[in-house]
Amino acid sequence: HTTILFEEEILHLNICTEFRIPCPNHCNQQDIPRGQMQNHLDNECAKQELPCPFTDCGCEFRAERMSITKHIKESPGIHLNMAGKTISLQKKLLQLQDERMQEQKKWIELLAKKVNALEKCYGSQLIWKIDGYQEKIMEAKSGKKPTIFSPPFLTSRHGYKLACSACLFGDGKAKGKYLSLFICICRGEYDSLLMWPFSHRVTFTLLDQCEDPDNRRNISYVVKPNTCKENKPFLGRPIGERNASFGAQKFMDLDTMSTLDYIRDDTIYIKVEIDSEDMIVI
Ligand SMILES: [Zn+2]
Ligand SMILES: [Zn+2]
Ligand SMILES: [Zn+2]
Repeated sequence: HTTILFEEEILHLNICTEFRIPCPNHCNQQDIPRGQMQNHLDNECAKQELPCPFTDCGCEFRAERMSITKHIKESPGIHLNMAGKTISLQKKLLQLQDERMQEQKKWIELLAKKVNALEKCYGSQLIWKIDGYQEKIMEAKSGKKPTIFSPPFLTSRHGYKLACSACLFGDGKAKGKYLSLFICICRGEYDSLLMWPFSHRVTFTLLDQCEDPDNRRNISYVVKPNTCKENKPFLGRPIGERNASFGAQKFMDLDTMSTLDYIRDDTIYIKVEIDSEDMIVI
């Protein structure tokens, strides 16, 4: 309530929350501030018609506030019966819901297994078998063939085309000491549809071929591409046949290579996985 000009006063009285109006139910309250009317009707007015509080249990009785109390007092048996039925119905519903949840849980587990299997079949991974290891490492040592390349592979059906490369006798500073593993992005058929620069994590794993799967000690190395400008020759969309390679120059020292079962039947296996999180699938 502020001081108001006359011509605006009627307009104001029609909306003012302080303006006192009589109860529409014609109870004995004749001057209730408009803003408090709803509260009066909901909680105070003796003449307000209300549903029986057992309405959710199926009682359809409606009456003024005073009569409701009387109604419940008069027929406690009926209301108790209704409440009982409602409870047992709720219990059954809960049980049903629980069963459904268990079923869904089983479904989710099953689907997770299937997704896992599919990822293995179609996911972003290469298992590169390098046979004739001794001969190849000798060729690398002599400088005749310092780097060997895997067949190209796709990160998904219409994804990036990548190839893995290995310097079995080490690259640059790692020469004679380490196995070096790299990945390079090759020009692919779907490049114009893909996101550039390439930003997905690459994991190299040298597989331990120990017969007992529980005793295998695979060696992994993760490369998280840094998509800064300087790395464009590595991660940008290929202009030539393939980009410069990036990866792990010191993947594993050559002495450790000959331990365990990393080399078996003169063969090693290198797994390359591309993290497909956030990868746009075309
Ligand atoms: Zn006012
Ligand atoms: Zn009233
Ligand atoms: Zn009732």
